[in-house]
Amino acid sequence: KVILELQDMCVGYSEPIVRNVSLKVEENTIWSLIGGNGAGKSTLLKSLFGLTRCFSGTLLLDGAPIQNLSPAERVRKGMGIVPQGRCNFPLMSVRENLEMGAYTLSHSEAKRAMERVLQMFPVLRQKLGESAGNLSGGEQQILETAMALETGPRVLLLDEPSLGLSPKMQQEVFENVESLRGEGLTVIMAEQNILGSLMISDRAFVLDLGTKLMEGAAREVLEDPKIKVAFLGADPEEAV
Ligand code: ADP
Ligand code: MG
Ligand code: MG
Repeated sequence: KVILELQDMCVGYSEPIVRNVSLKVEENTIWSLIGGNGAGKSTLLKSLFGLTRCFSGTLLLDGAPIQNLSPAERVRKGMGIVPQGRCNFPLMSVRENLEMGAYTLSHSEAKRAMERVLQMFPVLRQKLGESAGNLSGGEQQILETAMALETGPRVLLLDEPSLGLSPKMQQEVFENVESLRGEGLTVIMAEQNILGSLMISDRAFVLDLGTKLMEGAAREVLEDPKIKVAFLGADPEEAV
């Protein structure tokens, strides 16, 4: 069942940056949104959350248009986002950060939400009393994902969760994203670590200069000669 559908969307800032993107996202799938630096990944991801200007096109959630809704209204309809870069409260404890993530919920709902995300990410339970800013980058990314999950989104947007992390931590973050499979969640993950993100994704959408280069099963995209040459350092002669 399609949960999110982009119909010929053009989005950007003072002028369009990402043009004519159409895409159907099925429920319970993990998507990689890949492309080089400046390809428009963040612009497209933010547009799904109402954080950029929509010049034309339609965005459907559960079949109903949402392109004119505010970010807060999209959260109420079941969307969540973890923006690119750090987005926690570094001087607050992990527990306090999780309380912030749940601040729109009632006291009892917040307690349940916190317990639910601690079960998803056991690494956080040992760190509840520590300042978020003292956690490793990978643990901070996991905390930020947990905060976004507390309100129970059905569509989670992750913008470069592996950015700036060591290879080992990147792997840990991807494993944590993969562990969300089966939680009734659709994940759209912008990434430059193409190998790492495609390994845990069902489908992939490739952006180049603000337009769609390719879309398909993650495995097929990973094995595509164009992708191997453009992003994975393959020799053009050998890739085919
Ligand atoms: P990516 O996430 O793939 O690296 P972005 O979506 O951040 O790419 O950027 C795509 C293009 O949009 C770039 O040319 C960038 O300069 C431009 N851009 C990004 N943010 C803004 C902004 N706030 N205002 C105007 N242009 C922007
Ligand atoms: Mg970038
Ligand atoms: Mg970006």
